[in-house]
Amino acid sequence: MDFLTANDRDGAYPQSYYAATAPLLPPFPALKGERTADVCIVGAGFSGLSAAIHCAERGLSVVLLDAQRVGWGASGRNGGQAGSDQRSDQQTLEKLLGKDHARRLFELGLESIATVKDLIKRHNIDCQLKPGILLVDHKPDHTEYSRATVDHLNTHYNYDGMTFVDRDGVGDMIGTDIYYSAILDKAGAHLHPLRYALGLAKAAAATGVQIFERSRVTKINHGAKVRIETAQGSVTADHVLLACNGYIGDLEKTVSARVMPINNFIIATEPLPDDLARELIRDDVAVADSKFVVNYWRLSDDKRLLFGGRESYGYRFADDIKSYVRKPMLAIYPQLKDIRIDYGWGGTLAITRSRLPHFMRVAPNVLSVSGYAGHGVSLATLAGKLASEAIAGQAERFDTMATIPTSPFPGGKLLRWPALVAGMLWYGMRDRF
Ligand SMILES: Cc1cc2nc3c(=O)[nH]c(=O)nc-3n(C[C@H](O)[C@H](O)[C@H](O)COP(=O)(O)OP(=O)(O)OC[C@H]3O[C@@H](n4cnc5c(N)ncnc54)[C@H](O)[C@@H]3O)c2cc1C
Repeated sequence: MDFLTANDRDGAYPQSYYAATAPLLPPFPALKGERTADVCIVGAGFSGLSAAIHCAERGLSVVLLDAQRVGWGASGRNGGQAGSDQRSDQQTLEKLLGKDHARRLFELGLESIATVKDLIKRHNIDCQLKPGILLVDHKPDHTEYSRATVDHLNTHYNYDGMTFVDRDGVGDMIGTDIYYSAILDKAGAHLHPLRYALGLAKAAAATGVQIFERSRVTKINHGAKVRIETAQGSVTADHVLLACNGYIGDLEKTVSARVMPINNFIIATEPLPDDLARELIRDDVAVADSKFVVNYWRLSDDKRLLFGGRESYGYRFADDIKSYVRKPMLAIYPQLKDIRIDYGWGGTLAITRSRLPHFMRVAPNVLSVSGYAGHGVSLATLAGKLASEAIAGQAERFDTMATIPTSPFPGGKLLRWPALVAGMLWYGMRDRF
């Protein structure tokens, strides 16, 4: 099954701002013939790359396969916002899972961003890492909840890495008065995601990981040793990790029943004059709003506004991404009406019903990690690390994630899509009213 959309090119990165500004690597070969390894990882995004590095550092032999190129999927195309949480606030997690489980998830959230920073530092990855994410409230009744969230973290977690920002403060920070309040995630960060992915790939190769590109896995043969097949080769491994996220298709049906693909889009303006760039984002933090279909933006290193938002479902992309995403950008920043849009692109990510990640033991020696919604920069990086621990026989932290309940999307294979689309359109409509 191929997932090439209007903005994709087979075996090449999409024409994004990121691909235009990253030091692309020479291609890795395609898998040919038969190989063996301790671990075979399918998918070379943040999940697979992080898992590969962490497994190799434990002395395991690793084969990493990607259907396209390293970082070709969502990892090389996203908003670059690296959060420090599980995408859900602690009050909600406590209600859903109990206080102990929620606390372990809180600690893993902090570890996810720490792992990103650690990998960047240890492997000297030049990916323009900058601190801070501002989470802005688009409705007045969100203000009290944001204040309570920060208080809750202070009081019950002794954590002061999130601070409350009032309406005037938000206006000063992001040059618009349409938002009511915000939380500043000081541990959160933003980065150039394709540079990060390519840096991880270089680090993985240097650690001894055998990487193969343009090697789509077509079949998994389960057993005490698992045999993975591609068009021209195979890998027999003791352990397999599926790290395909939104691009998994039908490769493993138990995963695809719980993890659905959706598409999201980003535009990049021309470089902005310094004073305009500072007016839009005073402190160079990343920004994301509280809408169901989130608007998110940040400045690139060369002072373009990278603005993301809007979604589509299935593998059908918007025909004119630049105009499609320019609309919500101008609703926030009308002062950009004469600014040129230089790039527009999209990518596919995966969501679960709970919007929390989906970690799964498909078989005793086959793991799957995916479903991070818009939180995969940090959480996918963490997922790879936790999968490597589980493969090495220490599954406790993997299980903390795997025991988050994630039920299948309703409707069975035929009706799953229409049900998802109807649900998403309904919530998207609520954003507008
Ligand atoms: C437009 C956009 C904006 C986003 N913004 C943010 C953001 O700001 N912050 C954030 O935290 N998250 C964001 N996300 C989500 C984030 O990018 C993902 O959650 C994360 O990159 C997932 O990483 P991954 O490695 O699991 O999957 P991917 O990076 O999608 O990698 C999966 C890989 O698997 C390969 N693959 C699939 N099937 C096969 C097969 N059968 N055989 C071999 N290889 C296969 C694919 O080719 C692909 O390279 C965004 C996503 C998009 C699309």
